[in-house]
This record gives sequence, structure tokens and C-alpha cells, in this order.
Amino acid sequence: TKSLREYLFPPKTSWEEAANQKPPNEPLLIGQRKIKIIQDKVLGEGNYGIVYQGVMTDIMGIKQLVAIKKMKVSGGGGQMDELQKEINIMKELNHKNIVKVWGADDFVEEIDSMFMVMEYLEKGSLKKYIDENKDRLNVHILLKYASDISEGMDYLESQKIIHRDLAARNILVANENQVKITDFGLARKPNEGYYYIMRTRRELPLNWYAIESIEHKKFSHKSDVWSYGVTCWELFTRGEWPDLPTNEEALLKCLKHGTRLTLKNNCPTKVYQELIRPCWQDSPADRPCFRDIFYTIRDLQD
Ligand code: ADP
Ligand code: MG
Repeated sequence: TKSLREYLFPPKTSWEEAANQKPPNEPLLIGQRKIKIIQDKVLGEGNYGIVYQGVMTDIMGIKQLVAIKKMKVSGGGGQMDELQKEINIMKELNHKNIVKVWGADDFVEEIDSMFMVMEYLEKGSLKKYIDENKDRLNVHILLKYASDISEGMDYLESQKIIHRDLAARNILVANENQVKITDFGLARKPNEGYYYIMRTRRELPLNWYAIESIEHKKFSHKSDVWSYGVTCWELFTRGEWPDLPTNEEALLKCLKHGTRLTLKNNCPTKVYQELIRPCWQDSPADRPCFRDIFYTIRDLQD
């Protein structure tokens, strides 16, 4: 069997070939742990990643299901850097509401093809989960999810990380009572010299973006708060989107006019007014921080 490193540093394949290769059938190694990718089990596909299911066996022979993210590549080298950045950020994180990455230490050098191994959350994305369980999810449970996300985001803020892609599709359901934040593909640590440079081909999630992010490409914990508001709106209104302008300029104009996503369906007025709407204040300084949001939810839960 090939070690993970041997697999990741294939001797003679070109970058393009390696990147487009199917994952191997034989087990990979991460430290003392063996990883086997289940090729035909694609758990999800986002803008630029494919997530497979896999099995991790530790030194004692104990097996555990894992999820393995690989970059989708269609030319251009920048995407490998993107996964590397995502790994670098995620492997430092340790919080009950953030998806755990295993084995990231093995992926540190410049390589042809990369995989990121993380904990497997069998219930998948919160977006899918709310679509499929519309009738079962009451306000009480949705507030618990909102609270989990605020705790995870408060932790990210304490680690000085800006997520920049907070949305229901990037929240995973651990169990009926707990959710976790994932997809750090756009995340940045600004104090390490990242100040938004548009290098990725990734389509930006404009409908989740704050005014200043669309207008001046400015991102901060408070622009994450805006996206958090949209994420909660997705939860409580079950994600039925109105027709929004698809181009940046028109959308910006709308937002500057004061137009916002509206209260719909089963969303309690109190939740909209006290939790969701304050996240969309024009000025970042007027928006609550994640800690404030956590306490607001606690009051709403009573
Ligand atoms: P992308 O960067 O391409 O958007 P994501 O990390 O958001 O990739 O993952 C895409 C989809 O794959 C998610 O929406 C989810 O459905 C699924 N997925 C991702 N990670 C896991 C995981 N750890 N366990 C189960 N499903 C996952
Ligand atoms: Mg995603």
C-alpha cells in the first residue's frame, strides 16, 4: 500500500494529471491512521470542492467514517493554494461547533493533488436538512442551530478568522440538536497579511454579502455577522428566495436603498426583528457582535 505522502507526491505525473486523478482505492496513511476513500460515495459538491466519504482506521484497528475533500480542477494553479489555505486555517481550530479536520499535518508541502480529511457528519448540510425536514423543525430547534452557529462564529472571531462564506449550505448537521460550521475556502486571517485579494475563481456568494463587502471588497467580523443574518433568514423562512438582482451593481443599489430580505412564512416576528434584522444594519459598527447574538438568542429561547 502507498503511504499518503507517496500518493500525494506521485513521482512522474503532471500537475494536471494528478489533480484530475480519481482518489486511490488503496488505503492512505495519515500518521498512524489509515484512510480509505470510498470513490463512488460523493457526499457533496460545492463550487470547487468534491467531498467523498472514507473510512479511517487507527492503530488499534478502530474504524471511523470520515469525509475527504478534494479540489475540482479545471486548469489554473490557484485552487491548490486555496485548499492549502483552507487546511492551514481549519487544522488550528478546535471547537464543538466547527468541523474537525484530521491529518492535516501531512499536507503541508507543495504537492500535485490534495485531500483534506475531516470528521464525517452523516446528516449533511443544514440547507438540505431544513429542506427535507421542513415540518418537523420548530422554532425551538432552529434557535438552537442559530445559537450553535453564533458560538462557532464567536470562537472564530476570538481566533481572528473571517469566514466570508457563512451560509446554510456551509453548516453541517452533527445530530438533531447540534450543527457545525465548515467550508473555510474563502476564510482569511487578516492580521497575517491577508487583505482580500481576489485570486480565486470561485463565484462569490453575493446574496450573503454585506453592503461594504460588495461596494469596497471589505470583509470583517461584522460582514460575517451580515452573512449570519442571511443564514438565520434561510433557516427560519426555509430558504425560499425572492427574485434578487443577479448583478453586483443592481444588488448594491437595492441594499443601499434599504431593501432587505423580508419576514416570511413561519418566522416569528420577534426572531426577525431582534435576531435577523440587526445583522443587516448599513454601518458595520451598528451590527451586534457574535457574543451579543448568542445572548439575544438565549433571551429568545425563554
Ligand atoms: P465547497 O468548498 O466546494 O463549497 P464544502 O466544504 O462546502 O465544499 O462541501 C460541499 C458539500 O459537501 C457540503 O455542502 C456538504 O453537503 C458536503 N460535506 C462537506 N463536508 C462534509 C462532512 N464533513 N460530512 C458530510 N458532508 C460533508
Ligand atoms: Mg460550500
